[in-house]
Amino acid sequence: MQKWKENVRKVVPYVPGEQPKVEGRLIKLNTNENPYPPSPLAVKASADMDITKYRLYPDPAVSKLVKALAKEYGVGDNSVFVGVGSDDVLAMSFLTFFNSDKPILFPDVTYSFYEVWADLYHIPYECPKLDEEYRIVTDDYCVPNGGIIFPNPNAPTGVVMELEEVRKILDANRDVVVIVDEAYIDFGGESAIKLIDQYDNLLVVRTYSKSRSMAGLRIGYAIGNTELIKALNDVKYSYNSYTMNMAAIELGTAVLEDKEYFEETTNKIIATRERSKKRLSELGFTFPDSRTNFIFAKPSKISAQELFEKLKERSIYVRHFDGERVKDSLRISIGTDEDMERFFEAVDEIQRG
Ligand code: PMP
Repeated sequence: MQKWKENVRKVVPYVPGEQPKVEGRLIKLNTNENPYPPSPLAVKASADMDITKYRLYPDPAVSKLVKALAKEYGVGDNSVFVGVGSDDVLAMSFLTFFNSDKPILFPDVTYSFYEVWADLYHIPYECPKLDEEYRIVTDDYCVPNGGIIFPNPNAPTGVVMELEEVRKILDANRDVVVIVDEAYIDFGGESAIKLIDQYDNLLVVRTYSKSRSMAGLRIGYAIGNTELIKALNDVKYSYNSYTMNMAAIELGTAVLEDKEYFEETTNKIIATRERSKKRLSELGFTFPDSRTNFIFAKPSKISAQELFEKLKERSIYVRHFDGERVKDSLRISIGTDEDMERFFEAVDEIQRG
């Protein structure tokens, strides 16, 4: 073996959902993207961009977007951190806050990137089991630890945790940083942002990728106590000062003005999700109640793996995970009503054989 290989960092990377390059009509329900385009204000901001400015570096502090987000959530500018999608914000948060010899805690069934970052940074971790209904057991998080992270609502299950339960975890963990990943909170559930003044160790992480229809532009942010945000910025400036490009800053700021469009599209997805729950039940699927823009559903007439493959043959993409507790279900993102109709027709046809 070449000697240099001994010094290479060994990692098992996260595998993102497929971005297929299929010709023709494709139904893409595999990465929890929003089926609707971004706000028209994004289109306008894009047309208004002065491309000659691209010769300059962007603002390293991303002040314009930070101020707009601070205004949106009624917090100070120093309580907001932004990054290249919430993956970047989360990766930076792992590096910044999880630096203890004690294990960090996250659920056994959750966003699979957490495990990858923990391994990448050599952070010890433990994964308390969700209960039979895929709920987080709060008592499991009331033990000595080096930090806590969980999505609320959880992924890929879609299950939401009441804010009172989140508060219980915070009360039992005043000495470590608790990160609540709210990637899907706009589709259901109560945000923990309102608790940041009471808990200086609470960081809430959000994204433009789902409810704001801008996965392609890569914008994520964190809201928390000013000292947490300063610590994050110190690490960011020790790593890469210019994280956000000019287009992301301009478009990300512009869409915050369009509350009407945001509510309209979010409500449409919620309505489609509720209709989809009924159809899934009729087709024999079982699933925990979802408050997100996806449903984690277990087929009863065919294996999840086989259904996944047969749907793919029809250019319908959903997500299938391999883990022991998740392999019998498919994570189905909520598309337009038309997308879902095509999906249900295909499932019905496949199940009839
Ligand atoms: N957190 C959770 C729970 C997710 O499902 C995702 C989407 N894969 C992310 C964070 C990251 O999203 P993004 O980087 O697009 O903001």
